[in-house]
Amino acid sequence: MDNYKDKREEMVNTQLIRRGLRDFNVLQAMRETPRHIFAGPANSDRAYADMALDIGMHQTISQPYMVGVMTELLEPSRSDKVLEIGTGSGYQAAVLSGIVLRVFTVERVESLALEARKRFAGLGYNNITVKIADGTFGWPQEAPFDKIIITAAAPDVPAPVIEQLAPRGILVAPVGDRHAQSLLKLVKDGAKIGKSYHVPCVFVPLIGEYGWDA
Ligand code: SAH
Repeated sequence: MDNYKDKREEMVNTQLIRRGLRDFNVLQAMRETPRHIFAGPANSDRAYADMALDIGMHQTISQPYMVGVMTELLEPSRSDKVLEIGTGSGYQAAVLSGIVLRVFTVERVESLALEARKRFAGLGYNNITVKIADGTFGWPQEAPFDKIIITAAAPDVPAPVIEQLAPRGILVAPVGDRHAQSLLKLVKDGAKIGKSYHVPCVFVPLIGEYGWDA
């Protein structure tokens, strides 16, 4: 029990359920994940507010609704091995951690990756592995992944990352230009790839070999 429990319940009711999110496991994970820890002490008053938060190093932790939508679009299930590109604070990985089998998450900024790793250890999330690298190359040693989530804005889904998606896998990513994107859901069906576009969004840029220049 922590005193943020009521705030989380309210966040789930007013920001997620009222806007149409339905996946029980996703809602439950967001009721349980201590966003205030990931948001850091400077944000403790607004950790459960309806907005994105600054986490330093010019990076942000997405608005709760955006985390909810992306997680629901991923159709996460118990047996999934998931790749996340853009660890940031670690909040999105923590939400996934309670729903899926394992989460592999890549972050290019060393200080953010180290801090996230410390948080995961401190909170007892033991199915998350963090790597410091350019995530636009994916994580070839651990491929294939049932699900892949990119939490930084990409001009296009990096080719190596599509290759690392399992034959019936699902990938969710904000795709567009540097300043405005839409959420892309990509579903692999053997050799075929299905694409659908969902809500408009604004993410910080994915920087790397198959992303934007720094
Ligand atoms: N999922 C995070 C929010 C991500 S913000 C959370 O829940 O808090 C986007 C993150 O992507 C930033 O931390 C940024 O440093 C990282 N990023 C940008 N380009 C990247 C790349 N090529 N590989 C890995 N991480 C990248």
